[in-house]
Order: sequence, then structure tokens, then C-alpha cells
Amino acid sequence: EYKGMSKARMMEIRQQNCSPMTMKVTYYKEPVFIHQGYMQWLWDVDGRRYLDLFAGVATVSVGHCHPKVRAAAEQQMKKLWHTTNIYVYPTLHEYCEKLVSYFPDPLKVIYLTNSGSEANDLAMLMARLHTGNYDIITLRGSYHGGSPQAMGLTSNAAYKYPIANGLGCTNTMCPDVFRGPWGGSHCRDSPVQTTRECSCAQGICMANEQYIGQLQETLATSVPTRIAAFFGEPIQGVGGAVQYPKNYLKQAYKLVRERGGICIADEVQTGFGRTGSHFWGFQGHDVIPDMVTMAKGIGNGFPMGAVVTTPEIAASFAKGIHFNTFGGNPVACAVASSVLDIIKEDGTQKVSLDVGSYLMVELAKLRDKYEIIGDVRGKGLQIGVEMVKDKVSRDPLSHQDMVEIFEDVKDMGVLIGKGGVYGQVVKNIMLSSPQHPRTI
Ligand code: PMP
Repeated sequence: EYKGMSKARMMEIRQQNCSPMTMKVTYYKEPVFIHQGYMQWLWDVDGRRYLDLFAGVATVSVGHCHPKVRAAAEQQMKKLWHTTNIYVYPTLHEYCEKLVSYFPDPLKVIYLTNSGSEANDLAMLMARLHTGNYDIITLRGSYHGGSPQAMGLTSNAAYKYPIANGLGCTNTMCPDVFRGPWGGSHCRDSPVQTTRECSCAQGICMANEQYIGQLQETLATSVPTRIAAFFGEPIQGVGGAVQYPKNYLKQAYKLVRERGGICIADEVQTGFGRTGSHFWGFQGHDVIPDMVTMAKGIGNGFPMGAVVTTPEIAASFAKGIHFNTFGGNPVACAVASSVLDIIKEDGTQKVSLDVGSYLMVELAKLRDKYEIIGDVRGKGLQIGVEMVKDKVSRDPLSHQDMVEIFEDVKDMGVLIGKGGVYGQVVKNIMLSSPQHPRTI
């Protein structure tokens, strides 16, 4: 039961005092007024319960208001909320030691931030300082953040503003095996295959060769000989759960390293077990990045982000002073530390794998039945369902139709998310579920 502010008053304040962006992102004809959450459930101010398959854009990694996360925050709040990093306090060190244990060598040095954009800003800076090069390559359709620096990495039209951003950032074709020019049913590491004819020959993924060819062309024609970095999400999140052909990242990393660049995995959506088969998305690509950026699921909704890198790259960065007032805040560290424990205790990675694989197989049945479901893809609970006008043209379903679907699904008590590069003409539904099967 909610006895607070009226809906009309909230909308009035939203219109008059909240940012225009906040106004836009309601998704729905009738806004959803949420005031409480528990595990996979959200309740609106009228007491109506929704199953949350969006999880705050893949942010709620162990369930809304998980009792153990709450207890960890409460315990820490009794002791210490804030100090600057000038002083040494236990929670930060306990957490860094714990987080590092989840990474392979040589990823050993952690920087704590407050968001994903901030983590990616920092990663860009460190890559440039370490390599002495400036140019960064990203994949089209990607979202890496909204700050002026991270906006440069972002290559998703809906999130680009006409300001000077992206100096030194060059995009290359996203190896999207459904919407891109090449692809086939064996390209992806997924419980379901694409419906597209496969062009593979004798164990060689032709599509991968073609997309890698695009990267080679970008390297040959659009950037200086030496580059600073390559940024890639293991599965593109905001881009619409886009999965690359097997070996794409592996080959891309090799090409980038040959040109002096470091390889950065943006795990803001794919990290912390969400992809089910692995704790980190990059592990599904059989690569070890030089740097990994994290946020969202790291704190189960608590504002936090992180970068992990090698001691060598960290040493290049240590030549100046880097200061961040709230990065590594004691409460954030206590929360994030409990999140790591809960992922283990509750087996959320396995839940992601089991529930996600089941969901994908069932969704693929719907895909085979309905003309407007063009593609089902993903790993674990990072799933994309691409809506199309028809399977032959693969044109994105109209914005109006998407709005109707979102409204109907919401009215049936389920909240889902959007992705895809076409902004208003969204073609994807991205299902990102809290990874907990328990009901109350
Ligand atoms: N990287 C990815 C892959 C993201 O999805 C996002 C947020 N959608 C960001 C970075 C930016 O994170 P934040 O909103 O915390 O700045």
C-alpha cells in the first residue's frame, strides 16, 4: 500500500522539474508508477505486482532489495558512510581483493567508480596514457555511456548529441549475424540458432571472415598506424543483445594488439554471471582483455562501477594523480561485496543459464510460429527478441506496433526492456531478468 504523493502530482513534477530525458523514457502510454521491489517482483503505487524482466537494464543481478544486500548496507551504514580514499579503510580492500579473485591473470588492479560511463571514461584515459596512442575503435550499435567522452565510444544514434564527442573514436561494422549482411545459424554460441541460411564452409565461419575483413579495412583506411584501444561488449546490450560470430573477438583482439592497442571488454551488462555459462562475458569468447569495465550488476542497483586492468597499465596511469571522491565508498563496497557472495550462495549464474536457456528455447518456438518475431538470441539472461515486419524483409517492426506490444505485456503484468539501434523504431525486446527463481 502506498500513501504518498498522487500520480498526478508526480507527473506534474516530472514535467516541470525533471530532465526532458526522464520524461521520454517511460516506454508506456500509461506510465508505470513503481514504489517497491522484492527479488523479481515490482509493485506499483496501486499495489499491482509485475514480474520484472528488465531488471533496471540488467542492473539488478541478485533480486530487488535482496535481504542480504540490504543487511550488508545497513551494517556498513552503522559504522562508516564516507571518507576519502586518502584514508585506508577495510571495506574497500576486502572488496578489491575479492573482486580480483574473479579475474584471470594479469587483471589485478581495480579502480572503483560510480557508474559505467565513468568507468569507460577512465578506461579511455588509461588506454591512451599507457599506449601513447589516441585512436579507439568501437562497434556500431554499441552503448558505452552518456558522458561526453563515453558518448564518443557510443555508436547508437539515439544517444548521440550534436556536440564535439568521439574525437579519435572510429566505429567499425558490428558483426550482427541477423541484421548485418552476413551470418548464419552456426555463428553464435547460443542455445538457439538463427533462422538464417548459413554460409559456413568446412568449419570456417564465412561471416566471421567477412566481419573481421571490415575491421581490417577500418584499420587500414580510417585510423593511424598505432591505436590506443578497441572497446567491445561481449554481447551488445542496448544494441539489442547482439551476439557476434564465434572467434570474432579473438581475431579482433589480435589485430588490435598488432597495432599497439589494448583490448577493453565492457561488461556493464554481461558481467556478474548474467550470461550464465561464464561469470564474465569475455570468457565465452576465449579471450583475456587488457581491461574490463563494470557497473550495473556490480551493486545490484547501488550506484557503482569499476575498471580492472593489469599492473603494467596501472603503472602508466600512476604517473599522475587520479582522484574520485565517491569511488570505493564504504557502503558501495559492502554492498558489492555481498553481491559477489550472494551470486555464489544463491547460484544465480546457474539460474541465469537454466532459466535463460529454457526461455530462449521456448521463445524460439514462438519465433518459428509468428512472422513478426525475426530472431531470438543471447546467452543466459541476456536475451534479445528481434521484432520484424516480416521474416523476408527483416524490416524492424513499426514503433507503433512496439508500443502496443509493450503496453499489452505490461497490462499482463510483465515488464520488459527495449534495445536496438533504431531509436524510436525499436526492433528489439531485450529480456533481462533478475536472476532469482524464488517467489513470495
Ligand atoms: N556500458 C554499457 C554496456 C551500458 O549498457 C551502459 C548503460 N546502459 C553503460 C556502459 C553506461 O553505464 P551508466 O549508465 O552507469 O553510466
